[in-house]
Amino acid sequence: MVFGGALSRLDGMTTLVIGARGSIGRHVLDQLLAAAVPVRASVRSLATAAELPPGTEVVAADLTRPETLPEALDGVRAVFVYALADGAEDFVRAAEKAGVEHVVLMSSGSVLLPWTQNNAIAREHREVEAVLAASALRCTPIRPLALANNALGWSWGIRDDGAVRMAYPEARTAPVHERDVAAFATEALLGRAGAAVSDLLTGGELLTQREQVAMIAAALGRPVRIEELSPEEGRASFARFMPAAQAAAVVEFLADAATGGSPATDTVVRVLGRPPLSFTRWITEHIADFQ
Ligand code: NAP
Repeated sequence: MVFGGALSRLDGMTTLVIGARGSIGRHVLDQLLAAAVPVRASVRSLATAAELPPGTEVVAADLTRPETLPEALDGVRAVFVYALADGAEDFVRAAEKAGVEHVVLMSSGSVLLPWTQNNAIAREHREVEAVLAASALRCTPIRPLALANNALGWSWGIRDDGAVRMAYPEARTAPVHERDVAAFATEALLGRAGAAVSDLLTGGELLTQREQVAMIAAALGRPVRIEELSPEEGRASFARFMPAAQAAAVVEFLADAATGGSPATDTVVRVLGRPPLSFTRWITEHIADFQ
């Protein structure tokens, strides 16, 4: 089904953004629209299509329902897609059949760090990268390490009682703004990026979780308390929102980050030719979520 008019069959010129309502996918869509290239967006349910910019061509596509893919991929040359293990093989078959040339895959920097290799998050992203690498499609993985958006996980506690419960408050990461991640994907989709676009992608400043919370508190103009959780409590807390193996991987990542295992890289400067967007800027843009 199509929302917003008939499909634009521009002889293999269209770029499809799968997951265009996602935090990163939405910026990829906006950046492609700004570049004035033919673009199509997909959502799983067309009931959500109105959340996308007016006039956007929107299709329903679900990677776990392969029958939805041929229409979404018709006339498409390049695709942005999240690394979702469920449906990756069907997606590859459908994309090959549709004549897609290039897939920009939203992967994870955990596939690059030696000490995260065995955790569930790295494993899942590595598996999807491998499915794409074994296909006839050219694939460009985008590999951010820690998204600034993770701080949204603190917003409920801050709003409810001015407190954040977390394991490893001294874990130090360089959070990367979702718009910078999207800019990497867009550069790749537009064929403007070199190989560095798949390097470890981080923000510019290493900040402990405690420092990040203090910055949010300063922006709010009121104190925010940190209540430290044990690693076990941290795992249980994350497991309310994700599978247990992923929750364990996140806590393991934080434990490594508390001992210097989460670097800041210069990849944004090398790929985009400008400094990364700062965490301060991220807070300013998301402050309403914490109020
Ligand atoms: P997000 O806001 O949760 O968006 C995910 C998008 O995926 C949604 O638009 C959703 O579509 C779409 N989607 C989910 N299942 C689908 C399916 N079966 N078929 C088609 N589309 C589907 O995610 P984000 O914040 O942009 O990115 C999160 C991802 O970044 C993680 O999953 C991970 O792979 C990667 N990552 C995260 C970190 C981190 O620090 N958290 C670090 C490295 C990499 P609908 O709009 O239809 O719901």
